[in-house]
Amino acid sequence: MEGYLRFNTKLLHGKTSGGYFAREILPPVSQVTAFRYECMEDLEKVFAHKSMGYAYTRIGNPTLTAFEQRISELEGGAGAVATSSGMSAITAALLAVCESGDEIIAGHGLYGGTIELFKDLEKFGIHTRFADELTAEQIKKLITSKTRVIFGELISNPSLAVLDVTEVSKAAHEAGIPLFVDSTTATPFLARPLSLGADVVIHSTSKYINGGGNSIGGIIVDGGKFPWDTGKHTALKDFGRYGKMAFSVRLRTDLWENFGGCMAPANAFLSYIGADTLGLRMERICKNADALAHALDEEKEIRVAYLTLKNHPYHEYVDKMLGGLGGGILTLRAGTKERAFDIINNLKYAIIASNIGDLRTLVVHPASTLYIHSGKEDREKAGVYDDTIRVSVGIEDREDLIADFKEAIRKSKNG
Ligand code: PLP
Repeated sequence: MEGYLRFNTKLLHGKTSGGYFAREILPPVSQVTAFRYECMEDLEKVFAHKSMGYAYTRIGNPTLTAFEQRISELEGGAGAVATSSGMSAITAALLAVCESGDEIIAGHGLYGGTIELFKDLEKFGIHTRFADELTAEQIKKLITSKTRVIFGELISNPSLAVLDVTEVSKAAHEAGIPLFVDSTTATPFLARPLSLGADVVIHSTSKYINGGGNSIGGIIVDGGKFPWDTGKHTALKDFGRYGKMAFSVRLRTDLWENFGGCMAPANAFLSYIGADTLGLRMERICKNADALAHALDEEKEIRVAYLTLKNHPYHEYVDKMLGGLGGGILTLRAGTKERAFDIINNLKYAIIASNIGDLRTLVVHPASTLYIHSGKEDREKAGVYDDTIRVSVGIEDREDLIADFKEAIRKSKNG
């Protein structure tokens, strides 16, 4: 029966949705640093991984466990680790499989923070080779004997390139390399990358999963199916005995624990209850984004990019991979930076904020914020131009949103 649950039913009544100590309907917030034991022997067993239990929140906490199990179930994973932020999740996941001398292959059109992280990793001897487009064809050309992981975003933020998980995972697996997918912008409502061939899925839960804009967080979900060869993935050499769970075990008992990147229990609770409405929100957000994109596409001086627009280069993936939906992000090109600023400043309801995935519609000028440290060439490869506005569409009434944007365009200079 479980296998047949649809998204919202699974979210609310899936196998990980209960079993709490005092039969609470929601996981209690274990807002503690440490856990108390009656005798030293019992605590010793927990530290030695000989009995289940919690000792110290940085190494495990029941509120985090509830959140981890819920997202893992939604993604169809074998296990998950909740982290202090999306960036913390990406860092821990990559460092679990790469060490000095190893290489990563990634697409150009990634979230700016991730591109900056790749630059930081160079200083640790981990080199990233960038593909203009993360396609099977391009990665085959970039794979070397040092490649340890392919990293891409399912729907890239904000360039809106869609990763063909099926094709790319096939090419990666032929070379014995796993595919890690940042699925923050797609969410498990639009697609479940593990079922398409990805090996690990990562989310910044600060965005759609939390949905209320009230806590930073991240999560790494392991599919548990990749056949790790620790002769090649030497970063996992001490974990070979765990077979297909080597990545998960290293992540939890080594990197996550020692780097100290755990999610705060209160944030795990807020993200857990936020996720209750993930399906409802995504359905509404996608419909709003589709309506707004089509309405603004009628404006002659504005160039709109959104996946459900027929002229979008990745339009075919809407039906092929994303269940007919286009996600919550669209971009507008206003002609000049000045006009982009002017449109943004004239919006009444859309809030100027550098975030996505909120209930509220948010707008930002990416070139002067998220990509302020990137050079022009890097920015443009990521689909960010001087006149680009990123819109993260919320759940407002779509007629009001459309009127707000049309009015702001009309009032803006050159309008
Ligand atoms: N991945 C994507 C696609 C993002 O858009 C972001 C943030 O905007 C991140 C990762 C980083 O997440 P966080 O801000 O939670 O560290």
